[in-house]
Amino acid sequence: MQFVDLHAQYAAYKKEIDNAIQEVLDSCKFIKGPQVQQLEEALAEYAGVKHAIGCASGTDALLIPMMAYNVQPGDEVIVPDFTFIATAEMVALWKAVPVFADISPDTYNIDPAAIESLVTEKTVGIIPVSLYGQCADLDEINAIAEKHGLWVIEDAAQSFGAKYKDRKSCSLTDVATTSFFPAKPLGCYGDGGAVFTNTDELAEKMRIILNHGQSQRYHHKYIGINGRLDTIQAAILLVKLKYFDEEIERRNEVADRYSKELSDYFKTPCIKEENTSTYAQYTIEVKDRDTVRERLKQAGIPTAVHYPMPLHKQEAFFMVKKSTDYPNTDFASDRVLSLPMHPFMSESDISHITDTLKRAVK
Ligand SMILES: *Cc1c(COP(=O)(O)O)cnc(C)c1O
Repeated sequence: MQFVDLHAQYAAYKKEIDNAIQEVLDSCKFIKGPQVQQLEEALAEYAGVKHAIGCASGTDALLIPMMAYNVQPGDEVIVPDFTFIATAEMVALWKAVPVFADISPDTYNIDPAAIESLVTEKTVGIIPVSLYGQCADLDEINAIAEKHGLWVIEDAAQSFGAKYKDRKSCSLTDVATTSFFPAKPLGCYGDGGAVFTNTDELAEKMRIILNHGQSQRYHHKYIGINGRLDTIQAAILLVKLKYFDEEIERRNEVADRYSKELSDYFKTPCIKEENTSTYAQYTIEVKDRDTVRERLKQAGIPTAVHYPMPLHKQEAFFMVKKSTDYPNTDFASDRVLSLPMHPFMSESDISHITDTLKRAVK
């Protein structure tokens, strides 16, 4: 059994994907080929946002807007304590200070009340993460940002395709970012990402920054990076995007099956009334996690922990002053367990997983 079955997905679309790749090979337009712009237009339409800009990874997608916002050394950016490192890593790489905020225990997303208490004179922005595929409380977060004159970047690496109050993830904040890492709900066959915004000026600046700050060839307006999306990845994504809504639906069916079987035994995902989830992860809470994981492993079931260590405990952030406690993050990181999740899961795999889990805690 696979945690994410990329083989099954490739088999399902193989002909179209092979043709799409071959077309790029025949054209030899590996950088800035026409598929990149086609994909950007398709992504913008899909998310309901004016500009989608392809880039080299979900990590670059976070760095690029901070460069465009001209974030200065020592500026503070509020991020959740419970996320993949890239969110805070790019803040620190740009010599700003990541300020960790605790999460809400129900959804694991950043707690707006915690954000409010961490705003200082040095705060310039907030990067909420829409964890496991469900949007953070973006209206509340936007209101806090407006009150204090801050920008908001939604890290939607896991939530592209999700809905929040009938609007789409990636259309709800000043800027949003996503990742096309292969295991994400919309994955390519290497690294890739995108940045989204409704602001024309910001979009133009970010496009320039991700191409070495070039406004015209060999004329460099800003310090930039090589952060372009490959044409081959764009071509693959154009194929996969056609099936993305079906896949999200199927992921939700798998999640519903899991929850129906497991919710009497474990804390299962809590998706708020106003939200839909892409289920980038289906994550439960388990008290004796190591033992349960081992039992599952023996039964041939792969699992993962997103994430075992809060950011405030990471050695790489030794220089970040801890300004509060993180009881909800500490609790979650001890207990969360992600189960296999992909659109090609069989009924028998799902039953095998839920039966094994129930037996493990009996
Ligand atoms: C995957 C992920 C990223 C980084 O994306 P890459 O494409 O791997 O660079 C950033 N933030 C979150 C929350 C992620 O899950």
